[in-house]
Amino acid sequence: KIVVLDGYTLNPGDLSWDKIKEFGELKVHDRTDFNPIEVLRTIGNAEIVFTNKTPITKYVLSKAPNIKYIGVLATGYNVVDINTAKELGIPVTNVPVYSTKAVAQFTMALLLEMCHHVGNHNNAVQKGDWTKCKDFSFWNTPLIELSGKTMGIIGFGRIGQETAKVAQAFGLNILAYNRSTNLELESETCKYVALDELLQTSDIISLHCPLSESTQGMINQESLSKMKDGVMIINTSRGGLIVENDLKEALNSGKVGGAAVDVVSIEPIKADNPLLNAKNCIITPHIAWAPKESRSRLMQMAADNLAAYLKG
Ligand code: NAD
Repeated sequence: KIVVLDGYTLNPGDLSWDKIKEFGELKVHDRTDFNPIEVLRTIGNAEIVFTNKTPITKYVLSKAPNIKYIGVLATGYNVVDINTAKELGIPVTNVPVYSTKAVAQFTMALLLEMCHHVGNHNNAVQKGDWTKCKDFSFWNTPLIELSGKTMGIIGFGRIGQETAKVAQAFGLNILAYNRSTNLELESETCKYVALDELLQTSDIISLHCPLSESTQGMINQESLSKMKDGVMIINTSRGGLIVENDLKEALNSGKVGGAAVDVVSIEPIKADNPLLNAKNCIITPHIAWAPKESRSRLMQMAADNLAAYLKG
């Protein structure tokens, strides 16, 4: 018995579940709330559970004794209480790589939006404000040219490196901070630095490390105070990397010139999320991963993971 908890996230109707269906009796649900009791009810007596964003907590794991395998339909697997799953001997798989290019592309889309405000300009033109649109002081932040500026990438793994490649085409110099360094990746335009140096010298900071105990809240009042005035921050990684209240204050004071986040600490976003009313903040609903091409790869890799588990 196989249950997909939040299938709509992976398949808004344009892909088929046939690859997963081959392995058993499949039920695909569209959970959008994360009430653990409802999650438990949805899991029922299923042995195989797939989740994208629905948390599988210690409580859920302790009350659903039939679960034999959890497939996370994503790269980041922080939605599962991994320690409890380990204690219970339940294997958990994630799907790396499937969306590397899509997330890098989206990161640049967010950066370009902060530099050019395409959405705002379009809205103004649609409302008949052609002239006002060209009064550049109308916007909180001016148009910005990227060439020659410095982008600091925190978490120089697959997505961080792919983002660097694309960013270099815009003439950005890349600084990288990673837990470990791979010096083969260094070049004239890409240099490993200590975190403080990256914070102090970057015009743009883009987050690409996983959410873990060591990265939780790493963008906070203290790290923000080290950054250049007017820095732009992009987060396509996980919302928990940022202390949202601290970022809001830095945005409102002008210390941070703009922020663009695809992820927030609690998703779906709550009405009282401090970033919702912060100055110069763009928020998208965790969609960087989601072009059809990526989702199709994700579906295939999730099926391959399950096949590998069943083969032992
Ligand atoms: P990856 O594992 O290839 O790269 C992560 C890098 O972060 C690694 O090089 C690792 O060494 C580094 N790292 C880990 N902890 C660190 C720390 N404390 N300090 C500095 N560096 C640290 O993963 P990836 O494929 O590049 O994905 C990165 C993250 O992007 C994922 O964990 C996920 O949260 C997020 N993601 C988001 C979306 C989206 O739709 N927004 C889609 C896919 C992935």
